[in-house]
Amino acid sequence: MPYTLVVFHAHPDDEALLTAGTMARASSEGHRVVLVVATAGGVGLVSSDFLSDGESLAQRRTAELRRSATALGCARTVVLGYADSGLDGQGGVGPTFAGADVEEAAAALAQLLVQERADALVHYDPAGGYGHPDHLQVHRVGRRAGELAGTALVLQATVDRDLLTGALRLVRRLYRFPPEFDPTVFDRAYSPRSAITHRVDVRRFAVRKRVSMAAHASQATADGADRTLAAFLRIPSPLFGWVFGREWFVEQGRTPAGRPLDDLFATLRGRQ
Ligand SMILES: [Zn+2]
Repeated sequence: MPYTLVVFHAHPDDEALLTAGTMARASSEGHRVVLVVATAGGVGLVSSDFLSDGESLAQRRTAELRRSATALGCARTVVLGYADSGLDGQGGVGPTFAGADVEEAAAALAQLLVQERADALVHYDPAGGYGHPDHLQVHRVGRRAGELAGTALVLQATVDRDLLTGALRLVRRLYRFPPEFDPTVFDRAYSPRSAITHRVDVRRFAVRKRVSMAAHASQATADGADRTLAAFLRIPSPLFGWVFGREWFVEQGRTPAGRPLDDLFATLRGRQ
């Protein structure tokens, strides 16, 4: 039975890093995948010669988001239109997403969930991944929207923190991280392995995940500094599949037991 999956992210490019493989897998299995981003990402870094005359960073990033969504087989892409808060929470022009009223933002997302008759919603873990104010707000708003809409299956996209911190220690010996990349941030980021309910195998979709990342070209370039995304894209293909071949989720209301589930929709299928 095909399901409708709504995946809620903070900024264009978050979907590429966190859930692209799962989205590509779900769409290829015949499910309807709807990508929602809170902001168009107007505070991201960008190379000064990257934009065309008169083009804003938000416009460029929205176009990149649509290319990424196409690569992942999304049926619909929605930009809620809040201003990007920036990592320091100071934000750009207009009301920032991090400063938005949770009830109001959740009501807007819930309306979309009802309109789409969404079976499943993905938002973020309580740590907001690595703690960006907009990512923390995705957790608060996503959680509340799922309640308001009565969505049957609600999951938090995350990363296995134990795996991440171990891998970072190893990679640090072999690889030069961009100067703005601080690996110690990840000691409290995402979710511990003990909390994870789903580990989705997306190795078959690594190519599409890479295309999704590459679509966000503005985030892979910046004046005088290497970017995290650019660093990821330099990982050779066979290794890329290994590094990005799994995606992790915490299902709300499910106690992790034994081996994490590979099927994102296992709970829904169990109810049939
Ligand atoms: Zn983000």
